[in-house]
Amino acid sequence: MSKKIIIAIDGFSSCGKSTLAKALAKELSYVFIDTGAMYRAVALYFMRHSIPFDDIIAIEKAIQSIKLHFVFNEGTGKSDMYLNDENVEAAIREMKVSQKVSEVAAIPVVRDFAVAQQQAMGLEKGIVMDGRDIGTVVFPNAELKLFVTADPLVRAKRRFIELQATQPSITMEEVAENLSHRDLMDSTREHSPLKQAEDALVLDNTDLNQEEQFNIALNWAKERIMA
Ligand code: C5P
Repeated sequence: MSKKIIIAIDGFSSCGKSTLAKALAKELSYVFIDTGAMYRAVALYFMRHSIPFDDIIAIEKAIQSIKLHFVFNEGTGKSDMYLNDENVEAAIREMKVSQKVSEVAAIPVVRDFAVAQQQAMGLEKGIVMDGRDIGTVVFPNAELKLFVTADPLVRAKRRFIELQATQPSITMEEVAENLSHRDLMDSTREHSPLKQAEDALVLDNTDLNQEEQFNIALNWAKERIMA
């Protein structure tokens, strides 16, 4: 049986990390974990319970009432996020959550809570995880680290088309503004900012289609698996 590795995929918002991670996991029969969904679910919980993002006591208390887990969805081929046994997959993708998630993800207690669960999920390897700090903080020893990038306008257009299917009233301006807001917040926060790991391979997919990007990453993964 071939060796199992950890594949860490980081990068800015909406640059195709999850699409790539999902395809790699399917091909390799690995588990795929979308860590952004976890931060989105915590943000949703805080919003629903009116937890002020600067009230550390309330946040620490609220965190104890949050149970997150993923359930594989045969239809979409990826796992749905469950928050305290409720499927919140659609709710966490709404713009109102996207607008708040980076603030919530910058809170150290929230990161510690999410990172501990992510590290536990990777104990047996055979995992593809995408996020912002996977190669730098969650799995600094991952066998393969990818840093995915794409031109901001290309990213906004792709995201706009994707979101329009479920949120028809959304505008291109809203999407572009949200991406640049999150990119800035995520890369400038004090705790675990988004940055390229020194040993990460950069994958710029501005001019690549999904299949081309997948083939490049799969070759890199196979090299690591055979090593
Ligand atoms: O991946 P996605 O865009 O859904 O992530 C939503 C937000 O969650 C990001 O903008 C970022 O603020 C946060 N996040 C993070 N660390 C991760 C994954 C996501 O801070 N590992």
